[in-house]
Amino acid sequence: MTNEINVKGTGKLGFGLMRLPQLEKDVIDIEQTAKMVDLYLESGLNYFDTAFVYKGSEDAIRQALVERHDRSTYTLASKINAGVARSEEECKDQLRISLERTGAGYFDYYLVHAVNKDNLVKYNEYGIWDFVKQKKEEGLIRHWGFSFHDTPELLDQILTEHPDAEFVQLQINYADWEKPKIQSRGCYEVARKHGKPIVVMEPVKGGNLANPPEKVTKIFDEVNPNASYASWAIRFVASLDGILTVLSGMSNIEQMQDNLSYMGNFQPLNEEEKAAIRKAQEIYGLSKAIPCTSCHYCTEGCPKQIAIPDIFKVMNERMSTGQLEKADAAYAAVTAEGGKASDCVKCRQCEKACPQHIDIIKQLEKIATVLG
Ligand code: SF4
Ligand code: SF4
Repeated sequence: MTNEINVKGTGKLGFGLMRLPQLEKDVIDIEQTAKMVDLYLESGLNYFDTAFVYKGSEDAIRQALVERHDRSTYTLASKINAGVARSEEECKDQLRISLERTGAGYFDYYLVHAVNKDNLVKYNEYGIWDFVKQKKEEGLIRHWGFSFHDTPELLDQILTEHPDAEFVQLQINYADWEKPKIQSRGCYEVARKHGKPIVVMEPVKGGNLANPPEKVTKIFDEVNPNASYASWAIRFVASLDGILTVLSGMSNIEQMQDNLSYMGNFQPLNEEEKAAIRKAQEIYGLSKAIPCTSCHYCTEGCPKQIAIPDIFKVMNERMSTGQLEKADAAYAAVTAEGGKASDCVKCRQCEKACPQHIDIIKQLEKIATVLG
């Protein structure tokens, strides 16, 4: 078994399985997922990315991919997550459960999930780094790495302590390239310094960059009125050096067809397009929008069942459109079954889970003053 990962080997577009199409809340549409899987494979691409904590995703991919395609025709990534485990045993057992749910036999890529300075303590204490290396020896994992949400300094420290990590997964998108809280560029440069192939997550910022503000759409439309806004975001990251694959969390056939139209036969950004991205980055630097990607990591443990990402979405739209009555109605809808922003008891559970390091409590306080 080779230790080398070929950055040209997987194609540049990875199929992120975090936001699969749903028939109803929490019920994944297997038929549509299977169609998407087939279309993706027919395009010559082969990187699928799931995780223990993506609700129903591992089970869905067994049905839509593993039971329908030869194991040698695709690569599958999953992730171990100490944040949701109550003990070392429970954490380590996630690999067995993930293998059982997917039926994949082994994972081509296995990641220590969403590492940051808070959960690093738990990953170290549980011995998860040695665990994944041992499982690689046993053949259950082909390549191990980690996904990361913290500072370039911490990334440097981890890669120095674990020089045998084979790849890293980073949040990179043009809007966060220089943002102090995300530091896309800084983390990218550290990974490159250590010679690690990079898997990119959130290239479209949880879908936000597919619908950029008008000031940004004008810039892009002037250069190419036919290109989707998501294509700008994905091509920006795919144009960087050392990228193993760019994960796109595709939720329907249309999104996939759009992604495949420019990533099936990928062309890097030209100089004019790079200049347009730089202008868009300047505009995002001034934006006051809450940088939530709707990953929902924060909502699981909220004692007040506050629909944090939905509330943030309502607030962002309220700020960008100024449609106050519409925002009131949307707020009533997203808080109908759970808590309001004003119900927050400031336990910080959500902030510890948020990979975007959003000051959730402070934001909810502000929202409570205008929306209740
Ligand atoms: S701080 Fe507030 S929003 Fe966050 S988990 Fe606690 S109650 Fe929920
Ligand atoms: S607030 Fe943070 S953890 Fe919660 S959905 Fe948004 S980005 Fe994810």
